[in-house]
Amino acid sequence: MMPKPIIDYKKCNSCGTCVEVCPIQVFEKKNSKVAVKSPGKCIGCRACEVQCPQEAIKVED
Ligand code: SF4
Ligand code: SF4
Repeated sequence: MMPKPIIDYKKCNSCGTCVEVCPIQVFEKKNSKVAVKSPGKCIGCRACEVQCPQEAIKVED
């Protein structure tokens, strides 16, 4: 199975950290909300999961 990040929007505060740390632009900030734009590109590095200050991201694989 391909890895992909899931955002828990009950925890996410739209800080944008995941947008900055993802090496391949899987996330996108749009209208002050962060979305998983390209889940199929995720390489499973877990930088987003580790660095999200809200622990709002789980990378499934
Ligand atoms: S790093 Fe976490 S809290 Fe910040 S925008 Fe991404 S998912 Fe939301
Ligand atoms: S696991 Fe790595 S490649 Fe996948 S979305 Fe998170 S930071 Fe990006």
